[in-house]
Amino acid sequence: MGRTYKADAVVLRSLRFGEADRVLHLYTAERGRVNAIAKGVRKTTSRFGGRLEPLTHAQLLLHEGRGELHTISGADIVTAHAGVRGAPYALAVAQIGSEAVLKLFPEPEPHPRVFEGLVRFLDLLERGIDPGPDPVLEAAGLGFQLKLLALAGYLPHLESCAGCGAPGPLVGYSAASGGAVCERCTVEDGAFVLRPGSLEAVAALVERPLVAGALPRPAAADAVRVVETTYEHHGGFRLRTLHA
Ligand SMILES: [Zn+2]
Repeated sequence: MGRTYKADAVVLRSLRFGEADRVLHLYTAERGRVNAIAKGVRKTTSRFGGRLEPLTHAQLLLHEGRGELHTISGADIVTAHAGVRGAPYALAVAQIGSEAVLKLFPEPEPHPRVFEGLVRFLDLLERGIDPGPDPVLEAAGLGFQLKLLALAGYLPHLESCAGCGAPGPLVGYSAASGGAVCERCTVEDGAFVLRPGSLEAVAALVERPLVAGALPRPAAADAVRVVETTYEHHGGFRLRTLHA
């Protein structure tokens, strides 16, 4: 029983399983999240060798049996992203993005734009980025997380007060209201106060193509708070990689 299918996949996580196998947590274009077993990958004679490491983008041949774990029967590497794994700063940024995908899109449902965004994010890091002071504050990682939140339906509303609709001025951010809020709603919602320039920086990260680089520290710290409070309020989780 079962059937074999092809999938365009990124390895998000790789866990030891038994004597010689690994369970891979995959994000695929066709089916969203899939967990698959790569048999014998820890043997030196393995067909896959060490090729299916975390962050690898590959065309996989998968077999769907009766269990929840699918079996990998073939792999063609598209991009290994070995450069990211070899650069501690880029790797830390990539791990934040991987964890955000794992937590925000845990279901086996296709979201092609999430997959495309993940590949673009990893390819950007693979081209090489200048290490900044803190991977948590990196624009590429924050931009990717904000875009994922938008794709998950938690798009931050930033044009007018998300609480009362007032046109502005917008001085705070409320995850409960889903966006930037006016002074009165900041107090009433228990929102946090955004520092000057932060609202514009967050809006740019949401709207513009993903770029690498350093943001001014106050704006970056506020953007981290926007994503964290949104994860907590809407998803009920925290990212371990944001607190490494
Ligand atoms: Zn308001």
